[in-house]
Amino acid sequence: MRLFDTHCHFDFDVFSDDFVSHLQLAHEQGVERIMIPSIGPSNWDKLLAMSAEHAGIYTALGMHPYFLSGDSFFCFADLKKQVDAHINHLQAIGECGLDAMVDVDHEIQRQVFNAQIALASDHQLPLILHSRKTHNEVLQLLKKHKFSFGGVLHGFSGSYQQAMQFVELGFYIGVGGVITYPRAQKTRKTVFDLPLENIVLETDAPDMPLMGYQGKPNHPAMLVHILSCLANLREMDEQTIAQITWENANQAFKICE
Ligand SMILES: [Zn+2]
Repeated sequence: MRLFDTHCHFDFDVFSDDFVSHLQLAHEQGVERIMIPSIGPSNWDKLLAMSAEHAGIYTALGMHPYFLSGDSFFCFADLKKQVDAHINHLQAIGECGLDAMVDVDHEIQRQVFNAQIALASDHQLPLILHSRKTHNEVLQLLKKHKFSFGGVLHGFSGSYQQAMQFVELGFYIGVGGVITYPRAQKTRKTVFDLPLENIVLETDAPDMPLMGYQGKPNHPAMLVHILSCLANLREMDEQTIAQITWENANQAFKICE
């Protein structure tokens, strides 16, 4: 069984002391590939180094809406330079998008997201999308750019209709620990209804602890629990889901199997 954690902040400080043991644990559980999305200029170099050093670690460069500030738009020129310089060593632009729940000026979020959609288009790269209470606006901006290189809508929660609008634009839906919480009824129902061909798995580690593991940092080996929760929810066997989501993830990031 091979699994792909399509969203893991494996570069965060919480892993710095025991990164190697977490990576080994993930491998033992079948998590062979891990995508580490970027949050901004502070971790671009680290991610490029990590993906160069470890087989099965992939990266995306981008600017996360949560970490933007007044001068972020000026950092965009640096992002462009980094992407040009490392185009053969990255799989996507992101994570990027909009977040209505953070205290960051919405206009700045919009400008920086717009610029990243255009950058991904220019380089024919997929996007790793972050969208919290902003699905309609994110969809609208993607359509305005006629964005056609797909990617992943990460950490999905929402309705079937919303998910399918992203699928129609070529995106896979990132399913994570949310589905382990019975109270997340709407998202569980969506994930039950969505075609498996449109789903990828993610931990969003160290965030998004699974039910029963609150208060502890999440880590990529936990992907097997998300897989088994999804298998239960859909009344399917884990092997089949693992195989299909593995193929989907590789396709989303245009990685050979
Ligand atoms: Zn993230």
